[in-house]
Amino acid sequence: MNIHEYQAKALLRGYGAPVSDGRVVLRAEEAKTAAGALDGPLWVVKAQIHAGGRGKGSFKEADAGEKGGVRLAKSVEEAAEEAKRMLGKTLVTHQTGPAGKSVGRIYIEEGSDIERELYLALLVDRVSSRISFVCSTEGGMDIEEVAANTPEKILSFSVDPATGYQPFHGRRIAFSLGLTGPQVKQCVKLMGILYTAFVERDMEMLEINPLIVTDKGDLKVLDAKLSFDSNSLYRQSDVAELRDETEEDPKELQASKYDLNYIALDGEIGCMVNGAGLAMATMDIIKLYGAEPANFLDVGGGATKEKVTEAFKIITSDKNVKGILVNIFGGIMRCDVIAEGVIAAVKEVGLKVPLVVRLEGTNVDKGKEIISNSGLDVIAADDLKDGAQKIVKAVKG
Ligand code: GDP
Ligand code: MG
Repeated sequence: MNIHEYQAKALLRGYGAPVSDGRVVLRAEEAKTAAGALDGPLWVVKAQIHAGGRGKGSFKEADAGEKGGVRLAKSVEEAAEEAKRMLGKTLVTHQTGPAGKSVGRIYIEEGSDIERELYLALLVDRVSSRISFVCSTEGGMDIEEVAANTPEKILSFSVDPATGYQPFHGRRIAFSLGLTGPQVKQCVKLMGILYTAFVERDMEMLEINPLIVTDKGDLKVLDAKLSFDSNSLYRQSDVAELRDETEEDPKELQASKYDLNYIALDGEIGCMVNGAGLAMATMDIIKLYGAEPANFLDVGGGATKEKVTEAFKIITSDKNVKGILVNIFGGIMRCDVIAEGVIAAVKEVGLKVPLVVRLEGTNVDKGKEIISNSGLDVIAADDLKDGAQKIVKAVKG
């Protein structure tokens, strides 16, 4: 789960990390009061979306102005104006895709004078099963770009969980970033704070880009991107409260309410499958026969008729879907339950696109019988290959 920059900064401030004072604005009328509560002479007005690259982004609407989603202002009035200009508009960055993201929140912050921009991240390294630090002198740029062009400018190492964070880790980072004097001490302290927050809050990633050295020579967190392990939210209730559902794909949000493993994709063939492995194989074979899957969906082993109905509704609500492939291998899941769910859903939402159903396994005959007795226009398939070929043919002709 991701959160907004202003929420991330508030969380890190709570652990003692150096961040600027700021106010979040949800409605245009609040902009002036928010900016007025902060000391100048510089204000930064930042669009809050769950995507990076805001500074270099651009708005779809002309009246949002020419500048990107991070703007500097020299007065309270100017800051309020910039906030109003961006609220409710659509910001497109290299991370949002061409559709962009609607800006529902603006963060106004006391501006910093920047001497240097650095990069810092903590993440779970799946190879070593440890938390890793990643840092670079090349802050404010995409780390992927730095990794591709100048990998020698990135330092990365993991922390032994038996010792946890130690001051030498912080010093190693400080020296590789070229910090000197009191900055080294600040760095050792800040890295300890970030490591503690990372562990205590079950984070998956913590990225500070940029971490800056101010004109006064102090370290400061200028941007912050946190993501949390969704499986831990049951014990991180105050993190769970930071969830902004407007940032999520409505289909995925609906799926999560029914505990369905659904991920929206860009293709034209909706997939309803049981088991993550079979779902992956189904997506692969759709691609093999020349089409693209519209989603990943694993309805799970113990799906009920209601759950299958809901899954079908989510698939058909996707406007890109030109055909649906139901591929069920009934083990724990029974084919007749799937068949009933599909029929119930089709009766409720109608069927405007071709539907291929491949059933195999427990109660397969009963399942097939239910479908053929339903009078619905369903194309039956015998196996995975047959099913994929039939749905691709039905969609592409
Ligand atoms: P991102 O583009 O979404 O990564 O947003 P950031 O918060 O990283 O801001 C983008 C860039 O705006 C930074 O790399 C800085 O160069 C600049 N910026 C952000 N805050 C300030 C500030 O307080 N003062 C100054 N001078 N520049 C800032
Ligand atoms: Mg940034």
